[in-house]
Amino acid sequence: MAQLLNNIYGHKTQLEKLLSAVEDKHLPHALLFTGPSGIGRRKVAEALAQSLLCEKEHPACGKCSSCISVEQKKSLHVLYIQPDGLYIKVDSIRRINQFLSLQSFAPARLIIIDSAHQMNLQAANSLLKILEEPPSHVYFILISSHLSALPVTIRSRVQTLRFFPLKPADMYKTIQSADLKNGKENISVKPGMQKKIQAPSFDLKEKWMIKASQGSMDELEKWQENKSVREQAFQLLAMAVSGEELSPFVDIADLVKKREQALFVCLCWQQILRDACIKKLHGTNIIHQDQKNILNILQKIPFAVLEIIFQKTVQLEKDLKGHADSPLAFDNLFMQIKDLLFKVNSKERKCGQTYILI
Ligand SMILES: [Zn+2]
Repeated sequence: MAQLLNNIYGHKTQLEKLLSAVEDKHLPHALLFTGPSGIGRRKVAEALAQSLLCEKEHPACGKCSSCISVEQKKSLHVLYIQPDGLYIKVDSIRRINQFLSLQSFAPARLIIIDSAHQMNLQAANSLLKILEEPPSHVYFILISSHLSALPVTIRSRVQTLRFFPLKPADMYKTIQSADLKNGKENISVKPGMQKKIQAPSFDLKEKWMIKASQGSMDELEKWQENKSVREQAFQLLAMAVSGEELSPFVDIADLVKKREQALFVCLCWQQILRDACIKKLHGTNIIHQDQKNILNILQKIPFAVLEIIFQKTVQLEKDLKGHADSPLAFDNLFMQIKDLLFKVNSKERKCGQTYILI
């Protein structure tokens, strides 16, 4: 039993707006929650559902049968729509029509559409018809990270509420709250002592992980799961910029054969190159502070060359998203970086300087 509002960290302004609209009975019938994925927009939608459906009080008691059913995602008054594979198809919109055709005495009914930008055209047109003549006490909450991918006709029918990445403090609280909920808190408490929060499964000493996640819990999970891929990605970049031959311990083809993982390696490279540029400018907001080896190597490369390599990783990301052959694309980039640095070094050697370890 829980008031879902209490599990949300951050998004204070957005919550205040929504809750006061519920209290004043001015909540728009169709809302669009935008912002990056993994920051808790669905949790806000569910907390809003609890507030609208609670039998007892405002914002929500967290204890009545309505509140509990929303928390357990079993409420008959809340319909969840998600993509089926790559798209939300018209069948899902038919489910909305069926849901709305049922008689209901509930104070509200909600339709929460996750990844709304994945609606295909037919589905979007069908939804538009419903949004044009919204039944009373029915609220649509569309969640999307790609606003521009949503048809303008849909966007013109919804009120957009923008959500922002979580602050590090809110990420820590979210992690701790999730771990406590999962029963990972096992600290013994002496009588009379205040219960302390035990360190959760995410190692909070790994500050880089919070920074690398850029306010998204989804990203945090990705970094947590791919720690060894990150190490290999940095090792590979170190080899490329040092002009080394590929080590038998780093197999590019194996590392990047899956597109998702290839994009992750690309992200690692972009972040560490950004770190190296910031370090050169004597900035302090370094993400991968623990990666002293690769950062020291990159420090010996001129700023302009680091920028060129960064731009090449941006192109690589585009190519990967355009379904380029991942191992081949990485192989090419690896060779390009080696060539680029060889040329820079040769030029500098002629001028009597060397600054790269080749
Ligand atoms: Zn309640």
